Amino acid sequence: MSHPVIDPQAAKTAPPAFESWGRYPRYDAKIVPLNWQNDFPGVLAGLNNGALPVGLGRSYGDVCLLKGGNLLQTTGMDRLIDFDPATGVLTAESGVSLAQVLDFAVPRGFFLPVTPGTKYVTLGGAIANDIHGKNHEAVGSFGNHVPSFELLRSDGSRRICSPTENPDWYAATIGGMGLTGLIAWAQLRLRPIVSRKIDYEGIQFHGIDEFLDLKQRYRHAEYSVSWVDCASTGKNFARGIYMLGEHAKDPDKLRPSPEPKLVFPFNAPGFALNHATVSLFNSVFFHKQIKPHVKQVVDYEPFFYPLDKILHWNRMYGKRGLVQFQYAIPWQNAKEGTIAILREIAKSGLASFLAVLKAFGEIPSLGTMSFPQPGIMLALDFPIKPDLTFPLLQRLGDMTLEFGGRLYSAKDAAMTPKQFQAFYPQCQQFARFRDPMLTSSFWERVTGGESTL
Ligand SMILES: Cc1cc2nc3c(=O)[nH]c(=O)nc-3n(C[C@H](O)[C@H](O)[C@H](O)COP(=O)(O)OP(=O)(O)OC[C@H]3O[C@@H](n4cnc5c(N)ncnc54)[C@H](O)[C@@H]3O)c2cc1C
Repeated sequence: MSHPVIDPQAAKTAPPAFESWGRYPRYDAKIVPLNWQNDFPGVLAGLNNGALPVGLGRSYGDVCLLKGGNLLQTTGMDRLIDFDPATGVLTAESGVSLAQVLDFAVPRGFFLPVTPGTKYVTLGGAIANDIHGKNHEAVGSFGNHVPSFELLRSDGSRRICSPTENPDWYAATIGGMGLTGLIAWAQLRLRPIVSRKIDYEGIQFHGIDEFLDLKQRYRHAEYSVSWVDCASTGKNFARGIYMLGEHAKDPDKLRPSPEPKLVFPFNAPGFALNHATVSLFNSVFFHKQIKPHVKQVVDYEPFFYPLDKILHWNRMYGKRGLVQFQYAIPWQNAKEGTIAILREIAKSGLASFLAVLKAFGEIPSLGTMSFPQPGIMLALDFPIKPDLTFPLLQRLGDMTLEFGGRLYSAKDAAMTPKQFQAFYPQCQQFARFRDPMLTSSFWERVTGGESTL
């Protein structure tokens, strides 16, 4: 059974110029800034070892890395091009961040149709991973709100892609992990709001049955997500807080957001995160909500982006970094699979304090390689502990497969080629759309170096 091995040099050498959010693996690559759409494909001339367009590096593993290659960083392509308030359709270059979109849109009474747990991702990155948010059941994933984009290929060809124009390229590029070409610009359909506020409810639950009851009872909620304690066993096994939100309906001020002020200042020492500190954190978090059911009105920032308050919080995991494990298991096995996997995680003693449980809805994603599928989604971080973390991830990946689920490429640093090709049997069909000049360390790993499949 093959699984990634810890690179002993990883912690000793100076950090590379571009890291993914998990800071594992760490690879040197040349950063090639793209400031103008027309920089591509000219920048490829004379580059060796392939290239990969990247955004803000908020993917956790190696989907935004290319060992020894060239990372075409799009953050200089950050212009808003057009906005139609009648339809809510914004057109912007792909390096625009969702934070910039919010700063533009919120004061005008609009909000992102789908947002991840951080606003520091680019439009191109959000499309290329077809990201999902707390409203997946209500509106599907990001690509469902992208009417069109332009795809540039290394051979100089350009394609406008939409559900009706070049639909096969449209489907391959949504969730296509940057491998089909450079997304130069895209349209995004924003949704109207009248307030920055969110009507929030938090409800404690004990175990997966209560979680599923809440999911059924609040099935019409716009946003829902749960925090789950995956360190506890016995009577506290799978306890958590079910969090619901709706955009407030009473008109209020639509001010721009203040900038975050706190920065995690250093790499925490390796011993800072252990079973005792994580269990303590989980217990404090669970009891922070003293009443079993609370209702509050909160600003959208702490509701959607609680972790953005502390920039570089990933340093809390120390120099070795962290890996994330995120699955989606279909409904027929969702309960059984989630209980079995949570037990395996609790038994390992490696659980982290950032475990998120939620349901994916029925709206089909538009991308060939998109991650969401109807069922239960669990996401959690693990600190990297030599000899423990990767064997655990291997077991959890195999269990996910047994229960008919799949793992999320945007969060992965450990899937084997066998697992990937079983999770995504459509990868053969997808590979036909790959740009021959573009690849990633993720793609090289999960195709076993056979980057054409
Ligand atoms: C705190 C936190 C919370 C998160 N929460 C969620 C969540 O709730 N849901 C979720 O789905 N994800 C979540 N994520 C993951 C994140 O949303 C995705 O990994 C996102 O794709 C990162 O965007 P990025 O701009 O940083 O892109 P990068 O990480 O730099 O790149 C991501 C992918 O996009 C490709 N790419 C980037 N720009 C372009 C372009 N212009 N053209 C073609 N391809 C391109 C890259 O090649 C790469 O494959 C979270 C991440 C963090 C750190």
